[in-house]
Amino acid sequence: MILSMKDICKDFPLGKDAVVHILKHINFELKEGDYAAIMGPSGSGKSTLMNLIGFLDTPTSGDYIFDGENMAGKSDNQLAEVRNKDIGFVFQTFNLLPKLSAQENVALPLLYAGVSKKERMQRAEEALVRMGLEERLKYTPDRLSGGQSQRVAIARAIVTKPRLLLADEPTGALDSASGTQIMEIFQQLHDDGATILMITHDAKIAAYAGQQYQILDGELSVREEGENE
Ligand code: ADP
Ligand code: MG
Repeated sequence: MILSMKDICKDFPLGKDAVVHILKHINFELKEGDYAAIMGPSGSGKSTLMNLIGFLDTPTSGDYIFDGENMAGKSDNQLAEVRNKDIGFVFQTFNLLPKLSAQENVALPLLYAGVSKKERMQRAEEALVRMGLEERLKYTPDRLSGGQSQRVAIARAIVTKPRLLLADEPTGALDSASGTQIMEIFQQLHDDGATILMITHDAKIAAYAGQQYQILDGELSVREEGENE
C-alpha cells in the first residue's frame, strides 16, 4: 500500500465564523503500481484532494497514511521533504520556468535533492529522451508546443523517481492528438511500474486508468463502467 486515506475532511473558512465543507469523509487507497483516475465536474473538490494527497495542503480531519506512516502532526518541513522525495506533479498548465531550457527545467528538482550538476543534467537528458524530446533539450518553453511542454513537465515529474505520480487535468490544455500522446506516455510509465493518480473531467481520459473514481460535491465513490458519460 502506498497510501490510505481514512475519513478525510477538508473545510475552508467562509467569511468570519463559518466554514464550507469541501471534502467529505473521503476513504481512498492506492497500491504500488496502481493507475487510478478521479473524475468530477469543475468545483467538485478534485484539486483540493490532489493537494492533500501530494502534501501541498493538510486535511481538517481524518488520517492520511503514506508509505506506512501517519502524516498527521508532521511539520511543514517534514511534509515538504516527503513531497520532494516521493511525489511527482504534473499540472494542466505545465508550470515550466520560462527562462530555463527544457533540460534545466527537468534538472531543477534534482538540485533540491542535492544531486551534483553533472548528474542533474545527465539525468534530465535521459528523462527527456524517454519523452521523445532529445531534439529539444536546449529549447525554452516559449519554443515548445503544448504537448511538448507537457512532456517536459512529465520528465521533470519522474526525474527524481518518485513513489507516486500525481497529474491534475494533464490533458486539459491540449488538443486531442497531444492528449492521446500524453496518455500513451502514462501507459508506458505504468507498464514500467509507476504508480499514477490522475484527475480529469474527461471520461475518455479516465478510461485509460485501471481504477476509476468519481467525486461529486466533495464525496468520493467508485465509478462504474460508463457512468456519467
Ligand atoms: P475542482 O478541482 O474539482 O474544480 P477544487 O478542488 O479546486 O475543485 O475546488 C472545490 C471547491 O472548493 C470550489 O468550490 C472552490 O471554490 C473551493 N475552494 C478551493 N480552494 C479554496 C480555498 N483555498 N478557500 C476557499 N474555498 C476553496
Ligand atoms: Mg481543479
